[in-house]
Amino acid sequence: QGKRDGRGSFRFFERAMDDALRARALMECDLREAILGGQIEPFYQPVVSLHDRELIGFEVLARWRHPERGVLPPSEFIPIAEETGMIGDLSYGLLRRACRDAASWPPHLQLAINIAPQQFQDRWLAEQILAVLDETGFPAGRLEVEITESALIHDLEATRATLTSLQNLGVRIALDDFGTGYSSLYHLRELKFDKLKIDRSYVNSITMSDERAKLVDAIIKLGSSLGLVTTAEGIECSGSLGWLEDQGCDFGQGYLFGKPMSKSEADQYVEGGTTEVSAKTAAERAAA
Ligand code: C2E
Ligand code: MG
Ligand code: MG
Ligand code: MG
Repeated sequence: QGKRDGRGSFRFFERAMDDALRARALMECDLREAILGGQIEPFYQPVVSLHDRELIGFEVLARWRHPERGVLPPSEFIPIAEETGMIGDLSYGLLRRACRDAASWPPHLQLAINIAPQQFQDRWLAEQILAVLDETGFPAGRLEVEITESALIHDLEATRATLTSLQNLGVRIALDDFGTGYSSLYHLRELKFDKLKIDRSYVNSITMSDERAKLVDAIIKLGSSLGLVTTAEGIECSGSLGWLEDQGCDFGQGYLFGKPMSKSEADQYVEGGTTEVSAKTAAERAAA
């Protein structure tokens, strides 16, 4: 009896595994088709100068416009794309589309694109990006590549080589989610970045505690003493905004300025400025 029960529950377990594997295989298959079929779409989040509150450009954030499930966030498909090696194709398509979208925007506006850790191991990455820039006519000087520290843990030498070729093209490099990795200071010493993006977990907490605020202030000072500009991610309230401006943080990004938006919403944003903050800023400018 006991044995049979054991086998029964094993079979049940097997079936659950089977289902999970099948669902995963289906998802991979779907994603491959989505990449080929152009369902992966760039959304754009405004990046604003904290010196004058002018829009300086957008961060490109991937969205999957799924025919049945609606618009899916990157957490649902970027990890799968990374594990299966589809991330290169995904990024290539996304960058191409973003560079074409940006052609209708004023020429001072910049684009920042996220590149996954394993893509820096690919010795053709700079070549591929150059091909997109050539094809679309988007200038390298308007492009920034965002890298997280997890990329640096894998293979520092390969990553260094890729970063150097990108910088030789004129593309800038930002260290994303700064403060969440393990050995931030080591990487700052070993690699030449152009920008630090202070993670939103730090930015959110500055108005909550003095200690947190001191930490963010220290990061801004560290950046500027190394010749790097800083961006604060995830600014959600005007209290944090004012504080960051006072500390000399260079750029800001967050729901206060705008959530990631579709190309047509970004067009409107570029033309009018649709958020409360930019409206307020416009009023302030008019009054000044
Ligand atoms: P990230 O590069 O740090 O992007 C910022 C994330 O923070 C975005 O989430 C954005 O919507 C969110 N965010 C921005 N401002 C605020 C705010 O004020 N409050 C809150 N609560 N959240 C805010 P999203 O779009 O879901 O992207 C998540 C992550 O997915 C990105 O983090 C990035 O690491 C990754 N990702 C997105 N697109 C790509 C891509 O094309 N390639 C790769 N490799 N990774 C991507
Ligand atoms: Mg990013
Ligand atoms: Mg980030
Ligand atoms: Mg982040």
